[in-house]
Formats: sequence, structure tokens, C-alpha cells
Amino acid sequence: MTPFDSFAMLDWSSGNDTGPRPRRDAIWLGCVRGGAEETPRYLRNRVEAEAALVDLIETERAAGRRLFIGCDFPFGFPKRFARALTGCDNPFAVWDWLEARIEDAPRANNRFDVAGEINARFPGVGPFWFNGLKREIAGLPRRDTRAGHGLPDRRCADEGAPGSFSAWQMGGAGAVGGQVLIGLPVLNRLRRRFAGQVAVWPFEGMDAPVALVEVWPGLINRAVKRAEAGGGIRDAHQVRLMARGLARLPHARLAAMLAVEAPEAPEEGWIFGLGHEEELMRACDDTLKPPPLRNDCFALPAGVEWTPVDDALALLRDRLRAVVGQEVLPLAQAAGRVLTAPVVARRANPPEANTAVDGYGFAHDSLGEGDQVLPLASGRAAAGVPYPGAVPQGYAVRVLTGAALPEGVDTVILQEDVTLGEGRIAFRGGLKRGANTRRAGEDVAAGATVLETGRVLTPADLALCAAVGLADLPVFKRLRVAVISTGDELVEPGEPARVGQIYDANRPMLTALAQQMGYDVLDLGRVADDRAALRAALDRGAAQADVILTSGGASSGDEDHVSALLNEAGAMAEWRIALKPGRPLALGMWGGAPVFGLPGNPVAALVCTLIFARPAMAVLSGAEWREPQGFDVPAAFEKRKKPGRREYLRARIRDGRAEVFKSEGSGRISGLSWAEGLVELPDAAADIRPGDPVRYLPFASFLGG
Ligand code: AMP
Ligand code: MG
Repeated sequence: MTPFDSFAMLDWSSGNDTGPRPRRDAIWLGCVRGGAEETPRYLRNRVEAEAALVDLIETERAAGRRLFIGCDFPFGFPKRFARALTGCDNPFAVWDWLEARIEDAPRANNRFDVAGEINARFPGVGPFWFNGLKREIAGLPRRDTRAGHGLPDRRCADEGAPGSFSAWQMGGAGAVGGQVLIGLPVLNRLRRRFAGQVAVWPFEGMDAPVALVEVWPGLINRAVKRAEAGGGIRDAHQVRLMARGLARLPHARLAAMLAVEAPEAPEEGWIFGLGHEEELMRACDDTLKPPPLRNDCFALPAGVEWTPVDDALALLRDRLRAVVGQEVLPLAQAAGRVLTAPVVARRANPPEANTAVDGYGFAHDSLGEGDQVLPLASGRAAAGVPYPGAVPQGYAVRVLTGAALPEGVDTVILQEDVTLGEGRIAFRGGLKRGANTRRAGEDVAAGATVLETGRVLTPADLALCAAVGLADLPVFKRLRVAVISTGDELVEPGEPARVGQIYDANRPMLTALAQQMGYDVLDLGRVADDRAALRAALDRGAAQADVILTSGGASSGDEDHVSALLNEAGAMAEWRIALKPGRPLALGMWGGAPVFGLPGNPVAALVCTLIFARPAMAVLSGAEWREPQGFDVPAAFEKRKKPGRREYLRARIRDGRAEVFKSEGSGRISGLSWAEGLVELPDAAADIRPGDPVRYLPFASFLGG
């Protein structure tokens, strides 16, 4: 069997149009197309749903992709039904029979009548039961009083699916009877429309480019419940997780699950994945991480002696991607997290036209020339307390800031601009129509995309998401960063230091930097210049973190064990970047985790972290690549530099001019602390005089969102 490229999961509903606002118990469609997960789509009625399915099939066919469509209702009825209804055991005879009789419109359908009509063909009471309508339907009992109809209550497959419903039950929470009656005609039309391209499982061979498969989301109930605990609509989680699970199943496993043994009554159909619940749940798990980066992801083009900074950055930007799993979090926990999907407004902001001030509202058409006097209608409109009824033309009404404009009101005058009399107000003319009001949706329209994938959520983003009706957001898990210092000379701050020893200055700095960037830090301590010890520390980092930052030992000298070990793992590139302060940076993979081997020198370690590790870690965390926001300021210093490498000077702004630290010595940690940012000097030669513009990058522009 050819593998599938795209997967869709449909959550069906037999009810009426559910309105413009996404809600549960409606129709939902989850898709993973060509490996890309999409935000579940809310489909308010079956006309929209059928159009969406047609479009999905056409798009995937046009792209040459093989498509698996899962549907959450039975494709067949318990044994003997097909023969009794149509005279043969062919399940499609039942599909045709239903399609010829079901009438379906967004606001009404005849499913209960058709159920009654079927019941009339069987002896006794049933098999269908539950009339969900006010009026009586001949032959369709309201309660389960069925007897003597002669058919089994469930299919063979349903016996192995605890919690599944009988296809005879037409209504009540979770019932599927109505969905089958209303759904099969839609699938039947798709079969005809795409004749020869669509195969229905398990009735037909699975070699057509599109497969329609009965998939029951109850199989992954635990995973859905877990996702739902983070908020959001159950049906949306169901289709999202099932589509993902199907897409992540290895092809051989999917093929094996499709190859079920011929059941006793083939016309009943079967439930895909039955008996493989745990495997499906593992496959759709929200906490699952994407596969690790490729081992050669830090390879450099051959023959380049010194790689320019911009080339090195472009390479990182190109090769890296998110390495963390995903989860759904309530707004209150989402600040600083990265969106895994675009956020779409569920509701307009403002949701309805309202008044921007305290004052009096009226129809602009009520106004004449010159000064105005309007009688007051009784009552008032306040925020959250709508005005009952309409305001007649020629009248004004009291309105308070935020109140929805009452019917008949399109313009508001500020209370400070009126004279209030006995039951009347007077004010000057000249007010524009719509003055002092806010239009519905003037800020955000319902359905508009307000935030894109990769966005690092700010406090203001959370306000926006709340205002447009979201309570929880799909985000990446926090990136875990392991920090290791290397060097025989290092001692822990606070411990006695002997001659020749220095305090480990990099670890507290790098730990704090990673924390300020919003990551979880794993402090792996100091490691002596000893290969076995370093190997053990890297192993721990790879097992417990997503990325490893080391400092020291990154060059190619005798005691440079970081580069030696990464080389040994066969996944190391010594990045000789044309950068001061820098020296070689060792970039490599260790046990699936990217390692940034930073220089030991604290000044170089900080600059390399900000310039290289910061944007790289952002991409690993799921965020978009972002340049630090710099700006040009007049220099307060003099400096000449040769061409061939970029330079970063420790700097700060005083009196609107960039000052640089008195010494460029790379061991001068005090200069790092003195500085509030970096001055970036171009790769080319430069001769800077006081007053010349130079590029200043504040430290703050590297950190946070
Ligand atoms: P290396 O890259 O290991 O050759 O180290 C370069 C310089 O940075 C040496 O002078 C080291 O002593 C110093 N150095 C390395 N690691 C640290 C550290 N964690 N804290 C302070 N200085 C360090
Ligand atoms: Mg060293």
C-alpha cells in the first residue's frame, strides 16, 4: 500500500447550524497536510462541511498527496439490517437508500422521520429509538421501549469499544444514530463525485488515492481529556489529536491497522485502531517531541577560512527548527511562551458598537441645524447592562462608557458638552455621525488572525487573546538549556582559591542569560579538563535538556576537550567566525542535542551567546528568528579598525552618545558589567571619529520576547 501523505479527522454532527462562533458538539475538521499540522476548523453546518471535504480532496489530489479521511460515525449497521432494508448485504445499498430519502438543510433535516420510516418496515418496536422533536413521529419511540424488531443492538466492532453507542440511538448525549443517517448520504455523494479516487474502508481495497475510514475518537479519550484540561473545545482537541496521531503512526503500523481480519458480518464495517488504543494515544501525545536535529546540521561549507558573521547567522537560521514538544496552556500561564499555531479571533473587538464616553446617545438623523434640544427617553444603558428596547428618533438616552449602543442610537455627545434640563438636554450643533462611539469589530473582526505561529507571547498579547474570546493557547514547551563550565583552573565562587585558580564567572552569567530569555536552566556545574568527566556531563545534558551551552575548551588545543569530544562524535564544526571578541566557536550535536561550545573568556562568551546562541535558541524553542533591535547614535569615541572581521565593543549611552569601555582587553570582566549594550562595527574597515553614527545594540534588545 502506498503511504498516506495527508490526514484529516472529521467530528460529525447531525444538529442544526451552530452559528458563527466555534462551539462544541458542532462539526470539526482536523488536518495534517504533508506533515504540517493545521488549527482545527470549525464548520457551522453540513453545507459548509461538505464543501470543505470536497475542497480538501481536490487540494490534496492537485498536490499529488494521498489522503486519509477519518470519520467519527459508523459506516454500517448491525448485521441483517442491510439485507432487511435493501434485499442485499451490500453496505453501499444502505448508503444509496439513505441518500435518496434524507433531506438536509442547515436549519432542519428529516432524520427522525426517516428513522420512523425505517422502523415501520420492521416488526415490533424499533430498531431506532429516541425522538428528539416536539411532534410525535409514527413508529419512533421516545424512550427505549424497543422489542421484537429482530436485529442485534450493536455491531461486532462495537462490542470491543467500551463507551461506544448503538447506531440505533437517535438522540441524547453522545448518540450517533442521527449522525449515521445524516452522514452517510454526504459520504455517498463524495464517493460518486470522486468515483474511482475514493475507497471506503473496510468495504473496498485501500489502493485509491483517498481513503474514507471509520475512526472512533473514543479510542484516544485519555489523551483528549488531558488536552481538554488545559482549556479549549473538546471536539477541536479530538480532531487535532486524532489527525496528528494518524499522521505520526509509522506507515507499516497504519497499514497493519487497516488490514483487519474479515469480520463475521462485513457489511457492518469496523472501527479503525480498535485494540491499538495505547499506540494511537502515544502517537498523538501533545508532549511528544519532534525528532532531533540532523547530525550534520552544523556543517560548514568547505574551504572558507573565516566565516563572516552574517553567513554564520544565515546558516543557523536555515538549519535549525523547533526541538520542543507542545502543550495547551491557560492565558495566565502563557506569558513568554511561543505559539505553535496562529491565534484566530473567536469574537470581534469590540463585540458590539458601544459608547466611548459617558454622555447621551441618539440617532444622528434626529439633529437639525444649529443648537439642539432633545427630550430624554427613560432608562439608561451601562457597560454590561444593555438598554431594553429601542430609543425613538428625536429622543436622547443616558449612556455610560462601554455600554452597547441601544437600538436607534448611532451618535453620542459627551456629558460635559450638554446642559441637562427637566427631562431634556441641550447642546451645540456640529456633531458628526458616529461621534464618541466605537464600531463593532473596529479593532479586530471575528475570524481575523491576531497572532502568528512563532510569536513569543507578551502580556499585551494575552489581553488581546482574552478580548477576542480565547481562554487557552497552544504553545511550545519551554526550552531546557543545560549549562556547563570547563577548565582545570575553575573553582566555585565562595570556595577558597589557590594560586592559579580562578572563580567560575561564566556559569552564573550564562545561567542568568538563559533564564532571562525565558528558558528552563539545568546547571550541570564545572567539569575539569578531563574527557571522561566531560563526556558524562554532556550525556546528562543531552538526556535532560534540549540544548547544551558549554564555555571553555572550544579551540583546538591540547586541553580543548569540548571540540575534541564533539569531533569524536562526528558532528562537530569548528566555526572560525570573523568576529572580535570570538575565537572559534564549537558547534556540534551530542546525543541528539545541539551543543554551543562557547569560548572560555567571559567577554567572548557573552558576545557569542548574544550574537549566535540567542537567535539559535529562539528558533529551537519554536520562536521566529529575530534580529536584535539596534539603532544608530553618535559615537563618543575614536576608533580605527581593519577590514575582515566584525567587532563588538562594550558600550553604553550617555548624553545621547555611545561611550565604549576604556579597554578592549578580552579579560576585562568589569567592562562587561559597566556596559549596557554593544556597539557593532561593520566587517569592513572603519575610521570612527566622535559624532559619527555607530550602531548600538542595547543588551535588553537581546533578551525577553
Ligand atoms: P579556554 O577557552 O578554555 O582556552 O579559556 C580561555 C580563557 O577563559 C582562559 O583564560 C580561561 O581561564 C578563561 N575561562 C574559561 N572558563 C572560564 C570561566 N567559566 N570563568 C572565567 N574564566 C574562564
Ligand atoms: Mg580551558
